[in-house]
Amino acid sequence: MTRPIVIVGAGLAGLRTAEELRRDGYSGELVLVGDEPRLPYDRPPLSKQFVRGETDDTTLRPAEFFTEKDIRLRLGAAATGVDTAARRVSLDDGSAIDYDQLIIATGLRPRRIPGLPEASGVHVLRSHADATALRDELSGAARAVVVGAGFIGCEVTASLRSRGVEVALVEPQPVPLAAALGEQVGGLVGRLHRAEGVDVRCGVGLESLVVENGSVRGVRLSDGNEVAADLVVIGVGSVPVTEWLADSGIPLAPPREGGGVLADESGRTSVDGVWAVGDVAAWRHESGGHKRVEHWTNAGEQAHLLSNALLGTDAPAAARVPYVWSDQYNLKIQVLGTPSTADEVRVLDDDGHKFLAHYFSDGTLTAVVGAGKTGAVMKMRAQLSGAAAPAR
Ligand SMILES: Cc1cc2nc3c(=O)[nH]c(=O)nc-3n(C[C@H](O)[C@H](O)[C@H](O)COP(=O)(O)OP(=O)(O)OC[C@H]3O[C@@H](n4cnc5c(N)ncnc54)[C@H](O)[C@@H]3O)c2cc1C
Repeated sequence: MTRPIVIVGAGLAGLRTAEELRRDGYSGELVLVGDEPRLPYDRPPLSKQFVRGETDDTTLRPAEFFTEKDIRLRLGAAATGVDTAARRVSLDDGSAIDYDQLIIATGLRPRRIPGLPEASGVHVLRSHADATALRDELSGAARAVVVGAGFIGCEVTASLRSRGVEVALVEPQPVPLAAALGEQVGGLVGRLHRAEGVDVRCGVGLESLVVENGSVRGVRLSDGNEVAADLVVIGVGSVPVTEWLADSGIPLAPPREGGGVLADESGRTSVDGVWAVGDVAAWRHESGGHKRVEHWTNAGEQAHLLSNALLGTDAPAAARVPYVWSDQYNLKIQVLGTPSTADEVRVLDDDGHKFLAHYFSDGTLTAVVGAGKTGAVMKMRAQLSGAAAPAR
């Protein structure tokens, strides 16, 4: 009896890989294993429309889709280990699945700040369950502190403001989104939040939580100040979910290099029959190093490339230009290409709200970043083809 292709992780990358395999003509058995009980769902709306109460359902495909495509779902089951010699994945319900090919798509989990006391009212945001818990507490909240001004922290800040919550946004870097967009453009994002009444506190970190009777009442900052809050959202990055691979011999990148499953430029690991895709995957990069990319568009693009390579249907690779978007207030912030903090930044357009910036390295255009400038950003795609991916 032939063994199935088993995909572990029923998020965007896992689902897209299953879809691509079927589209590319794979007709054998296909199993999609996910530890969450829900059908695969989309995460970008969680920090935006979902938290704002504008949508409930972010499911990517209805149940019938999986029947139609003959994709067997094993939901609510976490993979706990892999025996690569026997080609077997073990699950937390005590069962095991034999595979012919294994695709690792277990994504990320939010980074925790060590040493913080347990308290209700403190949230992270990665899953549907996280977003539901946050949304449920919002109606009773007047003041929030968001710790970390990366994309998710900035989006949550904007969503909380639109729900009428007073927000302080705390960030150790000099400006929001400094690591992703650099200080000049990050400063423009900070201006956007200040204009919406956010108390943006940069250059300062979280020292501890103020907790009363088990509930958060505020935060203590590294500059000695306290900020009152009945809700705290911690958005200080995420780490790849790879613990379950610990004894498998599947090569992992060291945590100081971002962690993740090491794979080539098609997602193939050095272990026969094992692949990795999406946020958890550190694919080999044109530069020779490995890099994880934590963006929506990347997950679909990698799924396409992996499926082609696995089935041996290698299509000519289209030039990929990394793309990330982030919705904050009424603006779509778009990042096309690979901005680096070392780049020279030229702000070409800035009306005090919307802006457009070009990034250059040694005189070559590396990225275009715009807020409310969709046409001007997207028309630069051709010029940017060949650039590498930005960090989220
Ligand atoms: C709140 C939020 C907002 C975002 N907004 C944007 C945006 O605006 N623009 C953008 O470009 N990107 C955005 N992203 C990023 C984008 O959603 C991710 O890049 C994408 O979800 C990656 O998909 P993935 O399948 O690799 O990982 P995930 O979506 O994390 O899926 C991994 C799945 O594997 C499951 N899993 C983990 N361990 C196991 C195990 N041992 N066994 C079985 N299952 C397991 C997880 O529970 C999860 O369901 C956002 C992300 C978040 C969290």
